[in-house]
Amino acid sequence: MQIGVLGGGQLGRMMALAGYPLGLKFRFLESVQDAPVDDLADRVTARYDDEAALTRFAGGLDIITYEFENVPASSAKFLARSHAFFPPPDVLDVAQDRLTQKNFFKKLGIPTAPFAQVDSRADLDAAVQQHGLPGILKTRRSGYDGKGQMLLKSADDVERAWKTLGNSPLIFEGFVPFEREVSIVAARSRTGETAFYPLVENHHREGILRLTLAPAPNLTKELQAEAERCARRIFDDFNYVGVLTIEMFQHGGRLLVNEMATRVHNSGHWSIEGSETSQFENHLRAGLGLPLGLSHALHPSAMINLIGTTPPSEKILAIPGAHLHLYGKSAAPGRKLGHVTIVEPDTARLMEKVRQVQALL
Ligand code: AMP
Repeated sequence: MQIGVLGGGQLGRMMALAGYPLGLKFRFLESVQDAPVDDLADRVTARYDDEAALTRFAGGLDIITYEFENVPASSAKFLARSHAFFPPPDVLDVAQDRLTQKNFFKKLGIPTAPFAQVDSRADLDAAVQQHGLPGILKTRRSGYDGKGQMLLKSADDVERAWKTLGNSPLIFEGFVPFEREVSIVAARSRTGETAFYPLVENHHREGILRLTLAPAPNLTKELQAEAERCARRIFDDFNYVGVLTIEMFQHGGRLLVNEMATRVHNSGHWSIEGSETSQFENHLRAGLGLPLGLSHALHPSAMINLIGTTPPSEKILAIPGAHLHLYGKSAAPGRKLGHVTIVEPDTARLMEKVRQVQALL
């Protein structure tokens, strides 16, 4: 079986590494020269909207998926005409626009922060009037890792945010004073079988994920069930295939959905060592209609992202039980270069090892 993957970043790299034991082969389409999948698999270098290149890429592939969220929906639809493609391409139309996403959640009865569409200065004033401050103004498209958004606390901030972001279609969201940020990674196979990983707790700094604790400390059955219900509604609505990630705020004992990523996700990397089956393997199994693997946490685990620079490998590996993943990328500020996962039955010892890794960053 040869799998085609749009995107050749670290998510694609870990997908291939998960697929090789199953005898799968990979071909990537990537637009930039140096990519984490280099030397690992076949690759076509081209723009994602180049139909001649897409056709060349797709020749002989059994099934096609993607590993980053800004795949042009038109390219996904083009490939889906000739090949099995997962997740279903129409998912991208919803996932790539924050406003369409929020309206979709509303339609499914999935709770979110209050929000409003902002296409003009008057819309922004009306949104602030209706929902109050603080709030967050976000571009509807192509924001990630906290880019393309501004926190509004005062009338001055409103003015400044409008000057910075006002020439893109926007969404205003009421600020959620959350207790913590959590996410769920779930998989649905083309046979309809589903698997849910435990809800995890995510810590961000400067808009970038730094640390994931899996399962989320003090996770209750009720909270897990609430998260799974959200995932099921999305799965059913789209007849979804593959891994889906939902990022949420825990607030007052409830979950408010922030956004979904229709792909494998950074907050699921812990599953490589911390679960029976990794998110990457379950994504592939789901697409191929193979039985899904067990998705519970073997023990508590922690995933620490290596951002901007990487400490010497020998220092990380000197910490007993530390698993080091390097993505083969050149260092740059804010760039995700790798991660470390620690799996440890004793949570006090787990947090001690997390501090040891953090001290090296
Ligand atoms: P996003 O790009 O939507 O994932 O937002 C990046 C980060 O900004 C989130 O991880 C939160 O920490 C914060 N954030 C986004 N939206 C809200 C909101 N409505 N209320 C509070 N914090 C938010």
